[in-house]
Amino acid sequence: MMKEKIQQIAKSIFNDVVANRRHLHSHPELSFSEVQTSAFVAKHLDGLGLTYERMADNGLVALLKGEKPSDQVIALRADMDALPITEANDVPYKSKNVGVMHACGHDVHTSSLLGVATILTELKSEFGGTIKLIFQPAEEKLPGGASLMIKEGVLENPKPSAVIGQHVMPLIDAGKVGFRAGKYMASTDELYVTVKGKGGHGAQPQQNIDPVIITAQMLTALQQIVSRFSDPKSPCVLSFGKVIANGATNVIPNEVYLEGTFRTMDEDWRKEAHIKMKKMAEGLVESMGGTVYFNIVKGYPYLINEPVLTNNVRGFAEDYLGKENVLDLDIWMAAEDFAYYSQVADSCFYRLGTRNESRGITSSVHTPTFDIEETALETSVGLMAYLAVKQLGN
Ligand SMILES: [Zn+2]
Ligand SMILES: [Zn+2]
Repeated sequence: MMKEKIQQIAKSIFNDVVANRRHLHSHPELSFSEVQTSAFVAKHLDGLGLTYERMADNGLVALLKGEKPSDQVIALRADMDALPITEANDVPYKSKNVGVMHACGHDVHTSSLLGVATILTELKSEFGGTIKLIFQPAEEKLPGGASLMIKEGVLENPKPSAVIGQHVMPLIDAGKVGFRAGKYMASTDELYVTVKGKGGHGAQPQQNIDPVIITAQMLTALQQIVSRFSDPKSPCVLSFGKVIANGATNVIPNEVYLEGTFRTMDEDWRKEAHIKMKKMAEGLVESMGGTVYFNIVKGYPYLINEPVLTNNVRGFAEDYLGKENVLDLDIWMAAEDFAYYSQVADSCFYRLGTRNESRGITSSVHTPTFDIEETALETSVGLMAYLAVKQLGN
């Protein structure tokens, strides 16, 4: 009954959801600057008669109450920010803000959550429980809008028993979704390292301290953090993507500058690894006569999908879409600030398929040609509304 009603409304509002998504897509705003996006969301919440509070500057949190008696509370989360990318798609809804693009699908997440709000407002006499609608800023930039909203109390008064979020995935066909119970995405830390030596003529190494050779040893040694110290049962990655030694054929430079990333799925090991990496780099570089500045900028924690909640929600998704349209996800070593919710509340982060190979819609997120098959929006709004109502015990 509930399922058919939701499916019907999802169909009837489909054109509006597409229009909202296209509006947001053509007016993208960077992390921490989502002013117009936030105003757009507020206007729609006003239109639905929902009350909301502002948090983390551009964030909004609204409450939608079912009219049947229930003290259950859950939260649904969408992110609103775009990326510093120039859109290469030739589409009517192409970005009007040159150099800024919704290349991670956050326009889809925001327009979908507005669609969910529309569906559940229409059906509010038919379910019990409260839904917190979280529209958060700045997923793409440290320290992450999620961490700020949690600090400002988004998960209090009332406290949700579960937080559910979705993210587009161009590897999965539109109409399908993916789940993974347990550890799903990695923590990320940024590494900024300078190895200092003493530069000079390349023909006189005995008079210099060569930071290039020291760096070569350090890079090789640091891989032991992953291969010898990390538990092989738990994923861990250390990559240095930038190494600058600005000497010449016959010039040994004064210093070498490096940037890298460290990712894992265990907060204790993450802390320990930070200490070990610094210690190993300092010991090694000093033993060779150089000095090292090893700066670690902490990023998001790892993301864990609480297994009981995730298996529940997955079951509801199978009811709604059919078993054949619900897939298993593999671990993914990228990061996502939804991880902050997952560290403090039972959470479930699932993937919305947006691929349509026959229309050439296959580009990855964070590329200038990323786009979605818009029929995915009907799946998205209907499914999320259904998951919410079912998870509230209706
Ligand atoms: Zn992204
Ligand atoms: Zn994203």
